[in-house]
Formats: sequence, structure tokens, C-alpha cells
Amino acid sequence: MRTLIRDLPKSVGSTATIQGWLHKKRLLGGLNFLTIRDRSGIAQSLAEDKYELEKLRGLQIGTVVELTGAVVADERAPGGVELHDVKVNVLVPVTDEPPIEIDKPLDHKSENLDTLFDNRVIGLRNLQEQTIFKVQAAIMRSAREYFRDNEFTEMSTPKLLSEPTEGGAEVFKMDYFGKTATLAQSAQFYKQEMVGVFERVYEIGKTYRAEPSATPRHMTEFMTIDAEMGFITFDDLLGTVGGLLHRVVDDTWSQYETELKRWNASKAKLSTEIPRMSMAEIHEKYTKATKEPITDEKDLTPDEERWVCDYAKKNLGSEAVFVVDWPADSMKFYHRKNAENPKLAERADLLFRGLEIATISMRENRYDVLVEQLKTLAGGDPEDPGFKYYLMAFKYGMPVHGGFGMGLERLTEKILGLANIKEATLFPRDIKRLTP
Ligand code: ATP
Repeated sequence: MRTLIRDLPKSVGSTATIQGWLHKKRLLGGLNFLTIRDRSGIAQSLAEDKYELEKLRGLQIGTVVELTGAVVADERAPGGVELHDVKVNVLVPVTDEPPIEIDKPLDHKSENLDTLFDNRVIGLRNLQEQTIFKVQAAIMRSAREYFRDNEFTEMSTPKLLSEPTEGGAEVFKMDYFGKTATLAQSAQFYKQEMVGVFERVYEIGKTYRAEPSATPRHMTEFMTIDAEMGFITFDDLLGTVGGLLHRVVDDTWSQYETELKRWNASKAKLSTEIPRMSMAEIHEKYTKATKEPITDEKDLTPDEERWVCDYAKKNLGSEAVFVVDWPADSMKFYHRKNAENPKLAERADLLFRGLEIATISMRENRYDVLVEQLKTLAGGDPEDPGFKYYLMAFKYGMPVHGGFGMGLERLTEKILGLANIKEATLFPRDIKRLTP
């Protein structure tokens, strides 16, 4: 019967059989150490018998094996146990040397990322590399639990669409049985429509953007944690986003502290309430501190995002900050203006460790105002099928609501302290990359 490597300590003093991949072979002082990896960890074993070793002659790392041996406590070995005097059963022999070494941390320097991604299929067998995606899975798990605790319904919306939902510049188009289909560049419309059904909804799904720029923060395919909730205020909404970030940081650190430390990550400091700074205040403070001219008053530059996160960390005790008070003249048609000051839109960006990780906004829920904004701000036709069904949800009763989209890979990158979003992506897609 197969014993998982993590359970070997329970079998000290008896015999056990493990199955996995040959992870490392070493000859030390005449002794042959074989390291085996399974889904639960790695185990070291000692092959003394020449006849058993002979079975592995010419076989490479990656060979799938079954080892049976005596479980012996040894505090120097990973997991505190070793298998001794093993019998080897080769299940799947591998005779080619793998293209990338998997038993020591892989190089993540920017000039080596292409090699890293070209060999992803094998490189991910590296224990350190895998932890990125175990942490990412923990983030998704934690977010799902948070949403469940707050009575959100999980949903999955179409990614194949007929018309571009908002604007067309960054939309992928493809042939769809002689018609043109596009890939969803956001779940925006669907999640708002579902507020009319479930009141609170979320989705963790793919988003596609024909991003022509090669930056360390953009890809053409990425994951967003998208949520939308009805009967709330802007304060409630920011509270929900802040609560999610707290929960995810706490959960990933309680589950993966050892692994996160191997990446030299530190646990993010977050104040109970994430601080808010207005766009104008940031522009002003940044210009004062750096003597840089303000480049674009309608948004923050990447430099400003980094600067304000440093500022918030030092002065406000938080590595995350909300940017609020966005000028209404740059808002999207579905955004809601601030009732007291219509020059401002009720929207925010969440910056975390120098990077925008989420955009948040209250949406216009009044049918007539929405139709008007669609025409004047987006030049849209309410009868266009791209808008018609969306507007239907509003015509037949939509409460005050708001929501957000948070980039999963950017969040993972920042929790681990990586430098490029693609390092936090299993199989990244960008202008140049459609494989593996
Ligand atoms: P940016 O200004 O950084 O390009 P955005 O304002 O276009 O982002 P949204 O469309 O609001 O972003 O998307 C919500 C979130 O999705 C962003 O905060 C970010 O975390 C993530 N995101 C957006 N575009 C990309 C992309 N091309 N690649 C990876 N993640 C992205």
C-alpha cells in the first residue's frame, strides 16, 4: 500500500512503500541517496543494495518510481525520516536529462524569465516554484471563504461575447461560425445584472485584454476576483475590499509561512481600516516630494503608485491604500457620481505594495441616468445588443450597488514579493507568448 511522504514519520520502525518522482540522485561517501517527491513533499532514501541501484542505471530525474524500505528516524533528513535498504520498482523510466534543473531554486532574473517559461512544464516540479501556485490556490480558497461568510453567491459568466462590452480597443476578436466573437475583457455587465438576482455575487475567472504593451504588470490573459453587491454605500464597499485583503493576507501567512519566508516575503502590514488618500492629495504630495511635474491628472503614474505606497507604509502604517476622489470627467458610463460633489466619481483604486491591484466603484443604478450617461459618455446606443440586455436589468429594478475587480496574479505577486506578474502566472500570455 502506498504511504504518502508526509505520513512516513508515523511508520518509523516498520516498512513503507512510497511512490513518486526521482527528484535527486546523490552519491555521498559511497552511499547512494535518492530523493523522491510526491504531492505531499520529498523524502530521502538510501539504496545500499547494488542490485537495486542497477535498476536505476541510465535513468534520469523525473523517473516515476516505487520504493519500499525501512523507515528510520533521522533528524538531518527532510521530514525527519529516511527510507533505508530500499527495494526499487521503476514504474515509468525516463532516459532523457530534463532541460532544467529542479532541485534548486530557479533563476527569476528578468533576462531569464523566457527560459523559465519555456521550460515551465518541468520547472514547476521545483518545490520552490510550486509554492507560488500553492499560495495562489490558498488566496482563491481564502477569498471564496470570505465571500461565503458574507453571503455572496459564486457564479461563472460567459467569456465568449458578441459585442465589445465597453470600448473596443483592447478586445480580442475571432471568427465565430462566420460571425465575429470577442473575448470578455471584464465581467462587469454580467456581475451587475446578477445583483438584480442574487444581490451579492462574485466570480474568480479569466479576463482577456489585447494589451499591446509589454510591462511587468500586464498580460493578455489574467484572472480577476470580481464581486458586486447591492444595497450598500461606498464606505461599505471599501470595507468589504479591505476585509478581503486582510483575510487573504492572514490566511496565506497562517498556511504557508515557511514557504513564503523562503521567497524572502514579509507579511504585509495593514491598518484595520485601509487608509484613503484623494487623487489630488497624492498628486500634490508626490510633486512636492519628488519635484516631478504632474503628468496625468486623471490617473496615477506607476511611479506615483510606488511613491504613495511607500508614503502610506511610513506615515499611515499600511502597505495598502485606497486612492479616492477621482475626477468625474474621466469616469466610465456605468460609474456613479458623488451625490454631494458631482465633479467626483464614487470610485477608488486599491494600491498594494506599489501596484494597483483593484479598481472599485459605485455604479449608476438609476435607469434614466444610466441611459443618459451611456449616450453622452460612451456614445453608446441603448438598442445595441451589447447594451440592451444590460439595461434590461436596470429597467426592471436595480438597487444601489457597487463592486470591484481585483487582479489575482498581481495580488499573488505582491504577497510573495515577486517582481513581475508573469512569475505569478502558471502559463503566462503576452504579446509574444502563446505557448506552452
Ligand atoms: P491598469 O491601469 O493597471 O492597466 P486597469 O485600470 O485597466 O489596470 P481594471 O480594468 O480595472 O484595470 O481591472 C481590474 C484589475 O485587474 C486591475 O486592478 C489589475 O489588478 C488587474 N488587471 C487589469 N489589467 C490587467 C492585465 N492586463 N494583466 C494583469 N492584470 C490586470
